[in-house]
Amino acid sequence: MDNIQHIRADYIRYLNDGGQRVELDLPKSGWNPDTIHLSELGGCSRAIMLRLLGKKGRDKPQQTQDNDELMWWAGYQFHYLTYEALIHAEMMVRYEAPVVPKYDGVTGRFDMIWMDDVSHLTDIKTVRPNCFRYVERTFIAGAEIDIKHHAKSDHVLQLGGYLLHMGSMIDKADVEYIDRGGTNTPLLLPVDQELAKVRAEAAILGLLAQRDNLPEVPDPLPEEVKTHYSRHKVPLLKWVGLRRDWRCNYCQYADTEHCKTNGSEDEVTAAEWISDKRPGDWKFNVSGTRRGIVEGLV
Ligand code: SF4
Repeated sequence: MDNIQHIRADYIRYLNDGGQRVELDLPKSGWNPDTIHLSELGGCSRAIMLRLLGKKGRDKPQQTQDNDELMWWAGYQFHYLTYEALIHAEMMVRYEAPVVPKYDGVTGRFDMIWMDDVSHLTDIKTVRPNCFRYVERTFIAGAEIDIKHHAKSDHVLQLGGYLLHMGSMIDKADVEYIDRGGTNTPLLLPVDQELAKVRAEAAILGLLAQRDNLPEVPDPLPEEVKTHYSRHKVPLLKWVGLRRDWRCNYCQYADTEHCKTNGSEDEVTAAEWISDKRPGDWKFNVSGTRRGIVEGLV
């Protein structure tokens, strides 16, 4: 199998040697605020329902908008370069193409289908360098238990959504992670197609049921529970933190009249050892439901 990374590198060398850049035929932005998008299957369903209701979120300061545009623009360039390289290598089948609708009001546009010895549906994600920590390893109880690389669950859902609309024409589904900072080598990670389709279909049906229930909207996301372990030979749970779901940090509705988020952006210590000399004796710094959640863990 040809490596997508090598194909891109060959194309860059070809351009550097004076080669002609491939011209892409790109569609206009396909974003429709009135539909459920396959790219947001792993997102917050309350935010999606608020958008479908036409609720207006917080205005972003101009500087933030400019920063976002810059980030998106940089991300697009990695996509375009990859499309061009695959076209140049005569391996591209389709890119930036809408899926054929299967559920009323659900839309999506996949990145690309390309061929080497088999067909691939690949979604490209440009990410910050430290995101590679999350796609690379699984930790349990502070110990690394699995060093196999795996795609993030919301990206798997997105790919599953595209696959649901494609029948059985794809041999391999992958997510490619490209480091915007240039520190890590891109990772092409396989996705289990059957599992991804089942999970995506459940997510789509859940969102459609919520849409049918409008104007009622789902509850805000619960706080994330973070567990922290001691450095003993056999690591022990040492403290438990709570903080608001990371998706709220990027949400236009966070702490507006439409959504009071659970928890704060900064992690709070909800339960901790009374002292290092008395491991397992706990002090709780939160009360009510929040205390109930952490008490169940310690
Ligand atoms: S602020 Fe958080 S819980 Fe509320 S809609 Fe946005 S992501 Fe969902």
